[in-house]
Amino acid sequence: MEKKRIAVIAGDGIGVEIMREALNVLKVVAPDTFVFEYYKAGGEALDAFGVPLPEETLEGCKQSDAVLLGSLGGPKWDGVPSHLRPEKGLLGLRGGLGLFCNLRPALLYPQLAEACPLKNELVEGGLDIMVVRELTGGIYFGERGREGDSAFDTERYSKAEVERIGRKAFEIADNRTKRLCSIDKANILISSQLWREVINALSKEYPEVEVTHMYVDNAAMQLVRNPRQFDTIVTNNIFGDILSDEAAQITGSIGMLPSASLGEGRVGMYEPIHGSAPDIAGKDIANPIAMILSAALMLRHSFGMELEARRIEDAVSSVLDQGYRTADIMSEGMTLVGTKEMGRRIAEAL
Ligand code: NAD
Repeated sequence: MEKKRIAVIAGDGIGVEIMREALNVLKVVAPDTFVFEYYKAGGEALDAFGVPLPEETLEGCKQSDAVLLGSLGGPKWDGVPSHLRPEKGLLGLRGGLGLFCNLRPALLYPQLAEACPLKNELVEGGLDIMVVRELTGGIYFGERGREGDSAFDTERYSKAEVERIGRKAFEIADNRTKRLCSIDKANILISSQLWREVINALSKEYPEVEVTHMYVDNAAMQLVRNPRQFDTIVTNNIFGDILSDEAAQITGSIGMLPSASLGEGRVGMYEPIHGSAPDIAGKDIANPIAMILSAALMLRHSFGMELEARRIEDAVSSVLDQGYRTADIMSEGMTLVGTKEMGRRIAEAL
C-alpha cells in the first residue's frame, strides 16, 4: 500500500513538544502507514525566511494527503507588521487549501467533570458536541469599509456556500446521533433566511437526520443551560467562531480539544484549538492530548480509519482513568505527569 504523506508543521511555542507525542502515537496505531514531511510556518518561518507562510510550505501541504499543525505565534513576534504576523500563516493555509469547514468537537470526559464550570448535574456522564463552522465566507470575508463617521461589514452567503457546509454537517450528524441543530438569526437576517431554506432543502436528502433550527442568542443561552440537548451544530462563520469557543470553554480544558478543517479538496488540516502557550513552552508541562486527538480526527476524516481513530480516543480515556494528568487538568489525588510521559502512556495504552 502506498504510504500517506502527512505535512507536519510543528510551529512555535509548545507546538514542537506536543507534535512529537502525536507523531509517536500515530506510529504506534498505524505503523508503516505514513510518511512525515516537515515544514515551517508562523514565527519560525518568519525567522528563517522572512514570511509566515513560505511558498514551499503551502505547496508541500497541497501535495500532501493531510496537514498536522501544532500552533503558531508568540510574543517574540508581537512587534512585526500585521501582514507578517505568524497567525497570517494559519489564514494563508486555510485559504490556500480551500478549507471551508471547521469541525470543533467539544468533548468533556467524565473523568474531568471537575474542570467544567457548569453544575455537575448538567454534564453528568460527559458531554459530546460537534460544532461545524463555515470558515471561508460570511461577514469575515464580506465587503467592508468606512464612510465618513460610519463603518460597515457585510454578511453574504450564496446558496452553494451554505449547501457545501450543510452537506458536511448532515454527513457528520448522520455518523453520530443523527441530530443536527442549525443555528442562525433568521428572525432578522436575510442571509440567515437563505441559510435556513438551504438546510431545510438539504434535509430531504438525509431523511435519517433530525434537523432543528435555533436562533443564535437562544443557542448561546442553551449551551450553558442544557448543553446535553446538542449533538451536531452547524452554523455560519461568525456565529461558529463565538459558539465553538463557548462550547470549548464549558469543557473547561483547552489542552484537551482538537479541531479539523476540511475543504472540497482532498487535504484536511488538523490542529489543537489552543495556541502556542508561550508561558509554558519548553518546560515539558504542556498537555499533548489536544494534538493527539487532532491526529485521531485526521485518521477519521481524511483516511476513513475510524477504528484507529477510536483506538486513540479510547487510549486517552484509559490513561485518564488510570489517574494521569498534566498540570492544566490536574486535580487532587491524581498523578501529575509531563508532556512526554503523557504521550508515552497514551502510546503504551494503545
Ligand atoms: P494559548 O491557547 O496559547 O494559551 C492560553 C492559556 O492556555 C495559557 O495559559 C497556556 O499556558 C494554556 N494552554 C494552552 N495550551 C495548553 C496545553 N496544551 N497544555 C496546557 N496549557 C495550555 O493562547 P494565547 O496565550 O492567547 O496565545 C499565545 C499565542 O498563540 C499567541 O501568539 C496567539 O496568537 C497564538 N495562537 C495560535 C493559535 C493557532 O496556532 N491555531 C490559536 C490561538 C492562539
